[in-house]
Amino acid sequence: MPQLLEGQLLRGKTALILGVANRWSLAYAIAQAFRREGAKLLLTYQGERQKETVDVLGGELGAAAIFDCDVTKDADLLRLTETLAPHGKLDAVVHSIAFANREDLSRPFLETSRDGFSIAHDVSAYSLVAVARATAPLMTEGGSLTTLSYLGSTRVATNYNVMGVAKAALEASTRYLASELGARNIRVNAISAGPVKTTSARGVKDFGKMLEAVAAKSPLKRNCEPAEVGDTAVFLASDLGRGVTGNILFVDAGYQIMAL
Ligand code: NAP
Repeated sequence: MPQLLEGQLLRGKTALILGVANRWSLAYAIAQAFRREGAKLLLTYQGERQKETVDVLGGELGAAAIFDCDVTKDADLLRLTETLAPHGKLDAVVHSIAFANREDLSRPFLETSRDGFSIAHDVSAYSLVAVARATAPLMTEGGSLTTLSYLGSTRVATNYNVMGVAKAALEASTRYLASELGARNIRVNAISAGPVKTTSARGVKDFGKMLEAVAAKSPLKRNCEPAEVGDTAVFLASDLGRGVTGNILFVDAGYQIMAL
């Protein structure tokens, strides 16, 4: 991996990153890249279970503040707006959150329960809308909202199942939000990352086979790296990305262009 020097791309910008669970989280790689580029970092975690880990990681990253926010709870989102307000204008938000019941990522899609469908969509897609509503008022000088998606939104990935359907809703939500928030100079985009071994990804049955398939078939003949996702998130949050909104950017070693 190339050694990137400390940069200035996000100097003077404040970024809220939701979804750091541990060192393997894509949100952690994004936070590292944002810090390298000089952003002031604000992080969230979900519930007491994660507090200790995210406190340690936030300390290492020099985060200015760390908040508890379960995106399924409207009260948490209201509190988020209130607790963010004293930090002044917000410039960038990264939504790196998803959840589906483990059984729905291993059995046939046909067996998906109403509850399983609902929770996957609530956490993984609706939360983008809720987070946008909670944070857009703080982007008083415009800003950038970036979410994380996967190719399973438009193609069938074995065992990805209901999460693929939720990612389709997430990507459509990205476009609708981009359309509405553009007048306030708030850009909304998704990064469609290739498979990366994280806690969430391990929930998908036979995830290792996805990694092998991508490495064998992608133009770059390898999987993508979390740092590559982080650097693309920097681009989108920075002024370099000022003309880009409503897009799904693939960071997947090129896998998505391949057919046979
Ligand atoms: P991860 O480290 O497990 O991150 C998922 C995050 O979502 C965790 O921090 C988790 O917190 C959080 N979360 C779940 N339910 C939540 C809730 N109700 N409120 C607040 N936070 C909640 O896994 P990841 O792979 O980095 O996933 C980040 C994003 O990247 C997801 O949208 C995922 O679909 C996407 N993505 C991942 C891959 C991949 O292969 N890894 C590829 C493409 C896209 P807890 O741990 O506390 O539940």
